[in-house]
Amino acid sequence: MISFLDLKKINQEYRDELIEACSRVIDSGYYIQSRECNLFEEEFSSYCGVEHTIGVGSGLDALKLIIRGYKELGIFNKDSEIIVPANTYIASILAISDSGLKPILVEPNIDTYLLDVSKIESSITPKTEAILVVHLYGMVSQIDKILDIAKKYNLKVIEDSAQSHGAYFKDRRCGNLGDASGFSFYPTKNLGALGDGGAVTTNDSKLADTIRALGNYGSKKKYEHIYIGVNSRLDEIQASMLRVKLRYLDREIEHRRDIANYYLNNIKNKNKNIILPKVEERKSHVWHLFVIRSERRDELYSYLLSHNIQTVIHYPIAPHKQMAYSKLNGLNLPITQRLAKEVISLPISSIQTIDDTKKVVEVLNGFS
Ligand SMILES: *Cc1c(COP(=O)(O)O)cnc(C)c1O
Repeated sequence: MISFLDLKKINQEYRDELIEACSRVIDSGYYIQSRECNLFEEEFSSYCGVEHTIGVGSGLDALKLIIRGYKELGIFNKDSEIIVPANTYIASILAISDSGLKPILVEPNIDTYLLDVSKIESSITPKTEAILVVHLYGMVSQIDKILDIAKKYNLKVIEDSAQSHGAYFKDRRCGNLGDASGFSFYPTKNLGALGDGGAVTTNDSKLADTIRALGNYGSKKKYEHIYIGVNSRLDEIQASMLRVKLRYLDREIEHRRDIANYYLNNIKNKNKNIILPKVEERKSHVWHLFVIRSERRDELYSYLLSHNIQTVIHYPIAPHKQMAYSKLNGLNLPITQRLAKEVISLPISSIQTIDDTKKVVEVLNGFS
């Protein structure tokens, strides 16, 4: 079986270093908000080219805390609307609605899967305060055009970089492209911890300060609470794991690119049964997922499985069709709905061999 993602094997590669890091934390006697977290924050800031990193409990928390932060600073209020791509993972949308704000779902471009920039302006109202861009599957959104629109309407640009650690737009990395960015270190992500973790990056010192306090019970000074905060912190063990894995991230991304290029160059889409992703800048994509489309997606899924190739659907039900968002169920978003029926993610990882990749391509090219 060619598995979709073999996490055990990925982490075993760094076993000795991970154990050493873990021992260091055990022996330090400090387990929350200490040396490892501080050092990871510095190292991740320098990786992204950004001034501040704040370690938090998860990717969802990172996005939630950015929005809460802007609320505390008086920039967003309870009636604010935030524009977000309709085909994203549910967390991007939860982050908005959890803060009591209104998500405005905008269709993606069917070929790139990213927010369709031409549809943003018609969704802007006097209540719109931000655009939450999602660098879905590891490809950076058309950030230059999005920043132009944001400037014109005085909107914040929040990046959801949960799938795109290390991706570039021109010479800048994601996390440093908008006003603030949320990262996830969930184990399956390109930079994955061995548990939950997340971070906010920003160049805005006021926002950074506010978020740091919000995630620590709303407190800047022990037992003095400025905000009704939450508990969302990156613990020392996870920070130490991430420090090890950050050192290998660029190497891992290069490997993912090799796999993706092999797919792009060798998958034949005769009969239009298979449609490859459209990639404008191959160099900057970090290939968290390799997502193709087919009108016969469910058939393709079973066919691949019968040839011992495991695939995953990201995502089978669009957020606006979820029970949790019953109020949005009536929305008509044809591209998003079509993508939910047609997308399928092929195996890709930092340890996948070219032999396995060749096998996937051979089987895929035999689908008729
Ligand atoms: C994984 C993910 C998140 C949430 O991250 P968690 O760490 O699981 O909370 C948010 N947005 C996107 C696009 C994701 O893929």
